[in-house]
Amino acid sequence: MVALSMSKILQALALSLVTFIGVGASQAEVVYVPRAVQVTGPVYAIVGPLGQRSQANAGLNANYGFVLTANGVILIDSGASAFSAALLAQAVKMVTPKPIRWVLNTGSQDHRWLGNGYFAGQRAEIHALAGTVKTQQGFAAQQVANLLPFLAEQLQGTEPRLASKVHDGPEKKLDIDGLRLEWITTNAHYPGDTMIHLPEHAVTFTGDLVYVDRLLGVLPQSNVRLAQVAFGRLQALKPVHVVPGHGRVTDMAQATQETGDYYAFLIEQVGVAARNMESISETLNKLALPTQFRHLQNFDELHRLNMNRVFVDFEANP
Ligand SMILES: [Zn+2]
Repeated sequence: MVALSMSKILQALALSLVTFIGVGASQAEVVYVPRAVQVTGPVYAIVGPLGQRSQANAGLNANYGFVLTANGVILIDSGASAFSAALLAQAVKMVTPKPIRWVLNTGSQDHRWLGNGYFAGQRAEIHALAGTVKTQQGFAAQQVANLLPFLAEQLQGTEPRLASKVHDGPEKKLDIDGLRLEWITTNAHYPGDTMIHLPEHAVTFTGDLVYVDRLLGVLPQSNVRLAQVAFGRLQALKPVHVVPGHGRVTDMAQATQETGDYYAFLIEQVGVAARNMESISETLNKLALPTQFRHLQNFDELHRLNMNRVFVDFEANP
């Protein structure tokens, strides 16, 4: 009973804090309050909304995770700003009073790491693989500038802060406060992107290698060939629980149908057409509406653009 009423109080405090910050700092009301879902045992996920960055979602349009250990909390990815990092901290606080002592960055996209400074300010250790840090360095200024139209005043106090504990990749086995983890480079969405596997819990946090419920995006800096190799590596890990970069917590069946099969489609249909020097417009028209992927959110905005990028890539690098 005591624990229950305490958590109710914390919940009320968190809600009033959000309302206060929302009105005081930005005028726009924050409607998205991140909430933890238990994946298994001490492992939790925070599943963000699927749409574009906005003040209403505080730029938390991605998934996060955390693991309770004996002496604290390990947080996976830190949010898009100091403001959104505080929202993630509140979501953790609903589950445990333990402090967030370690933050791990799976990637270098804005919403994976721009909250680092907030947690470093609370004396958390920030960890990343060297390849991720290199990309973060390259993109930091551009990311903050690009976020400004979406998040405006919510970016106040956000300073891109790189990891203090940098591990050599491409793969690294670590033990943090008794939790064993296997950290594996994917290079999928951004160069230096990674996934984090917890063998004792059969959970993999895939970072932006896997998207479910919505179509994945191929960016100019994405690499579908490396993504497909990494997806094979993920399959070999045989996780029971998959926490994707975007979309609900799931299993390998859905991850394969909505991500693995899409990488294969892009490579085998679009890439091969480019390699065979077929016409780009005919190829894109012919493959415009694949029935197995049309139901995914963001399909209309992304599918043709994704195919276009893959075609041009395979044309240049057959
Ligand atoms: Zn993402």
